[in-house]
Amino acid sequence: MASINTEYGRDLRKYGGFDFNACYNCGTCTAVCSLSTEEDSFPREMVRFSVLGMEDDIKSSLKPWLCYYCGECTTHCPQTANPGELMMSLRRWLTSVYDWTGLSGLLYRFLPATVTAMILAAAAVIAFSASRDFNLPEIMKAGHYFEMIAIGTVLAVIFIPNLIRMWWFTMLKPGIKVPAANYFKAAADLFIHMFTQKRARDCEDNNFRWLEHFLLVIGYLALLFTTVVLDWFSSSSLFVIILGYLVSAIVFIVTIDFVSGRIRKKKEVSRFSHASDWMFVVWLVLMGLSAFAVRLFIDLGWLENNLWLYLLHLTVLVQWALIIVPFGKWTHFLYRSFAMYFHSVKSQVK
Ligand code: SF4
Ligand code: SF4
Repeated sequence: MASINTEYGRDLRKYGGFDFNACYNCGTCTAVCSLSTEEDSFPREMVRFSVLGMEDDIKSSLKPWLCYYCGECTTHCPQTANPGELMMSLRRWLTSVYDWTGLSGLLYRFLPATVTAMILAAAAVIAFSASRDFNLPEIMKAGHYFEMIAIGTVLAVIFIPNLIRMWWFTMLKPGIKVPAANYFKAAADLFIHMFTQKRARDCEDNNFRWLEHFLLVIGYLALLFTTVVLDWFSSSSLFVIILGYLVSAIVFIVTIDFVSGRIRKKKEVSRFSHASDWMFVVWLVLMGLSAFAVRLFIDLGWLENNLWLYLLHLTVLVQWALIIVPFGKWTHFLYRSFAMYFHSVKSQVK
């Protein structure tokens, strides 16, 4: 028998803004959702589970990740129960469930904790720089090493254990028996969904938004590759320098459009913004802009006299790498890709 947590609704509200208790179960949201199918029907079911406090059923479900938040369901909901935002809030909640450290849930629910973590990260950058007598080449070298160490550590200490937990909650614990070969057969789907997010194109009227997301993913990964592997800030290769300018500009321009969409609130998808949504887009803007400016100052020979610019970039980078990537909205990119993969693995046994 499904277990009921009567406090679940109250907990879930800390992860987003909506009134799912207003739902009278009409099913309009599921009928209008372009991504809902007979086998994987949502979001009405998830709204019911949330109202009834069926926490374990939500925990074992991949459905919140199958939603790409086009907002159609919310537009048509006669009760303004905001099912689209409920699905988003469930994704935030699931992120906190998968995270073994508990930090994800804390940062989502308690904004002062996020602000404190951001301030501590900034203070660590200043303290480290002071310990090196604000020597620019030394700080830049350390910044480059930090990028490599942070990526490896976050992957090994946070992401791999959390993905194992996700697999446990969604595949193993519910008793889904799948031949091991299915995991290999479906492996291509993991990368296809991770890099293209092609399912988002099936959302109604969503092609431009999909294109922006696609450009952002490619631009962001290319920026990561250019700065970490090709060492953009120290490179003298014209190809690497131009590539870095190009990809940082892409990240900046696309995210500026996301920020302006959230300010204008014209589309359903940007009508409600959780603090984590703001943080994600604003930090991406800052990453793209500050990286672009640092390289420009290097090329103009101005950086030595403007150390503050590199310290600003490094602070944004440290906050991004240690807070937003492992515990914030960035994880949705990872978990959604794996959800599509697990979904594909499961689909093969039907
Ligand atoms: S459309 Fe609104 S009221 Fe109807 S089932 Fe969906 S959330 Fe509930
Ligand atoms: S936001 Fe869009 S994809 Fe998500 S459940 Fe609603 S209609 Fe479906």
